[in-house]
Amino acid sequence: MEREFGVKISYSKARRGKLHALNMLHAFGASIRGYIQYLRSVICVDGSHLKGPYKGTLLVATAQDGNKQIYPLAWGIVDAKTNKSWKWFLSNLKDLIGDSKELVFISDRKKSIQKAISQLFPSSRHGCCIWHMEKNLIQRYNNASLLFLFKRAATTFQVEDFERLMGQIRRVSERAHGYLERAGYSFGSRALFIEHRYNIMTNNYAESLNSMFRKARSLSITCLVEHIRSTMQKWFYERRANAEECSTLLTPRMENELRTTFENGTRLRAHVLTNNLTQVGISNDTDIVDLSEETCTSREFQLNHMPCVHASRAACFRGKTLYELCSRYYSSDYWKGAYSETIYPVPKEVDWVVPVPSANSS
Ligand SMILES: [Zn+2]
Repeated sequence: MEREFGVKISYSKARRGKLHALNMLHAFGASIRGYIQYLRSVICVDGSHLKGPYKGTLLVATAQDGNKQIYPLAWGIVDAKTNKSWKWFLSNLKDLIGDSKELVFISDRKKSIQKAISQLFPSSRHGCCIWHMEKNLIQRYNNASLLFLFKRAATTFQVEDFERLMGQIRRVSERAHGYLERAGYSFGSRALFIEHRYNIMTNNYAESLNSMFRKARSLSITCLVEHIRSTMQKWFYERRANAEECSTLLTPRMENELRTTFENGTRLRAHVLTNNLTQVGISNDTDIVDLSEETCTSREFQLNHMPCVHASRAACFRGKTLYELCSRYYSSDYWKGAYSETIYPVPKEVDWVVPVPSANSS
């Protein structure tokens, strides 16, 4: 600065200035286009602190591919997890993916994220991350029966079950119940969440992404960004190769899930009710499947967009193939589509002015 502009500034000020200049969002065209065409519109957002000399926070938005693997969409590096930085990050994301009724966000529902999402994506829905809430409950209350009830309430598909369990939570701890209500737990639970969330209950995918980059978090920002880019490039290459080899109709993980569901379904009894309705189960434990509407009274079928045990049994009973009842997002064709493009290295690197990492960051 002194040589070029004749301005004297302290070393730390120069470094802070560099951080501001590096506030940037990285989204890869290949993953944004893959997401828009081939993935469920469920996006997890999270942030984690950087450990390098520049401090700051790494914000990530991730989706999930049909094989239940993390699919990163956008990365941003900001000063801190403030209202302003979430708004900046999410408004950039909005320019790329738009807002829609089908869009679901999953986060720890901290005020700053919540505010930015409701302002920028008014049509979307916003669920809480079950994994984050569990972590908070352990920290605040550390009560085994409370955790047990919480987990059951979080995963039930039935509204009555959910309400009964919440009542029990209240009896165990009025304060914990109040905390869950304030954090929007019921709003984000499986039973009260309507459609489109599929089976994605937590954003610990975003969180595990952060842990994968734990070491890289102490790199200088430019090195971190290049590390992320090269990791994405590798993932896209490897997964494209796996998807191209896949010979089943569904992705390997969903094919396995469907097989298990089918096997468990064969133990159940099925009876015809009407042209569309099939009763599945024994005596006082029965569910009713509607194959034309693709629903089951257990609600698992319509929420996951994959047959539950009852739907599987009903389909076999009626001579329908199970694949007809699975969302296209779980198909191996969509899986291939999501990774069809390549993530390239940054072009013409010789033309780039890359800041040299300072001595104490290496
Ligand atoms: Zn069912």
